[in-house]
Amino acid sequence: MKKTKIYSLILLITLMFSSSDGVCNENKVESTDYQISLIINPQTGHISVSGTLTFFNSGIEKRGISLYLDSNMVFSKFIINGLNMNSYKTERSDSRFMPLSKKIYLEESVLKKDKNLLEFEYSGTLGTLDSIFANVVGNSWTEIGLYYPWFPFSLEGNRLFSYSVRIKNLNGKEIFGIGKVKKEGDETLITSTCPTNDIPICISDKVKHSVFRNGGTKIHIYHSPEKSEFIRTLSSDILNISYSLQKIISKKKNLEVVFIESQRRLGGGYARQGGIILGGLDPQGYHKSSLNLKWYIAHEMAHLWWYKANTGSWEDWLNESFAEMSAALVIRESEGEELYNKIIDKKRELSQSTPPIWGFDRNGCAYEISYKVLYNKGVCLLSDLEDRVGREEFQKLFTSISKSKICTTSQLLDELRSISGEETAIWFERLLKNS
Ligand SMILES: [Zn+2]
Repeated sequence: MKKTKIYSLILLITLMFSSSDGVCNENKVESTDYQISLIINPQTGHISVSGTLTFFNSGIEKRGISLYLDSNMVFSKFIINGLNMNSYKTERSDSRFMPLSKKIYLEESVLKKDKNLLEFEYSGTLGTLDSIFANVVGNSWTEIGLYYPWFPFSLEGNRLFSYSVRIKNLNGKEIFGIGKVKKEGDETLITSTCPTNDIPICISDKVKHSVFRNGGTKIHIYHSPEKSEFIRTLSSDILNISYSLQKIISKKKNLEVVFIESQRRLGGGYARQGGIILGGLDPQGYHKSSLNLKWYIAHEMAHLWWYKANTGSWEDWLNESFAEMSAALVIRESEGEELYNKIIDKKRELSQSTPPIWGFDRNGCAYEISYKVLYNKGVCLLSDLEDRVGREEFQKLFTSISKSKICTTSQLLDELRSISGEETAIWFERLLKNS
C-alpha cells in the first residue's frame, strides 16, 4: 500500500513516543502525575512553569533517572524529595526526537525506593525546532509538547502519567489539548486522568470545538472554523471506525477521544493515548485518498486497546502488530475482502527476509526493519492465525486478549493454548520464531 509522507512520518514519530512501558502494573503507572501551572507568551515562546512531578520507583531508578527539558529553561526551584538541588549533572540530549533538550541526571542517592516528589519552577524561551518536528510556537498557532519538551520528561520509566495543567488565559485565544478542558477564572485547566504519554498544549486565535457522539463514543474535534463541513464528514468516518473497532476488538463503555487539527503547515501528526493530532489535514486530499487517513486513524485508535506491552522491548509487537491488524480488519469491513487481501499480500512481500518477531531487537536495527517487522510481518502472522482458527475463533481471541492484562508473548501463547489448543499455540510460537 502506498503511504503518504505524512503517514510515514507519523508512524516514525509514533514508534518513538507511543509508549506504554510498564502498564502491566497499572496502579503504579497511574500514580505518576504532573500538577503544573504554565504562563506562555506565544509571540516570543517564553514560558514560566511551576509544579510537581510525582513518580514511583519502578526499579529502573536503581541507576538514577534522566529528565529531558528544553535546554533554555533556567530553574529557580528544583527540589527532589525535599532536597534542594543546587547543582545537578546535565548533558546534551541524546534523543533525536528532542534535539533541543538537555538531559538532567538525578542520581540514585537522591531517589526514594517508592514514591518520589519533584518540585520545580523554571522559565525561559523555548528553542526553535526544525520544521520537521510537530511542535511550534507562534502567534496564530502554538503547539508545545514532548518535542521540546516543555515539561520535565523521563524516557526511562513511568512513561505513562496523568496530569493537570493550569494555563493563564490569553486575550482572544483559545487554549486546548488532549484531555478535559475547562475554563476557571483567568485560567484554562487541562486534565487527563487516564494514563497518557505527552502534554500537548495548543493555542489558537481561530479554532472551533465540535463534539460528535454515536452510541457510547464521544469525539471532540478542534479545527479551523472554515472546515466545519469537512469535519462533519471526517467525524462520521471516525465514528464508523470506532464502531468497527469495538465490534472487531471489544466494546468500550463511554469512549472519549480528542482530535486536534494542527494548523502547522509541516511536521505531520501524531497520536497519544486518548487523542490524535492530525497534521496537514486537507479536505481535497482527503476526498482523493481518504483510505490512508482512515487507516492511520484506525491504527491509532486501536492503541486504546493495544498498549499494554513494554514498547522498549520486542514485546512491543503486541501493541503495534495488533493495532495494525485491527486497522486491516476495519478496512476489510468497510472496503471489502479484495482490498484486505491485496494489503496482506503486499505486507507479506515486504516482510520477506526479515528477522523473527521473537526477541526482535528494535533498538538495534534500522527504522525500516522495525517497521517491516512490527507493521507488516506481525500482521501477516496474525492473518495466518485467523486463517488457521477461523474468523469466529480469531475474534474470540482478539476480544479476550484485549480485555485481559496480557502484556507478554508468553501470556499470549497461554491464552492461545486455552482457546485454540496446544497444537495451535506451538504452531504459532514457531511462526514467531521464523525469519
Ligand atoms: Zn502504533
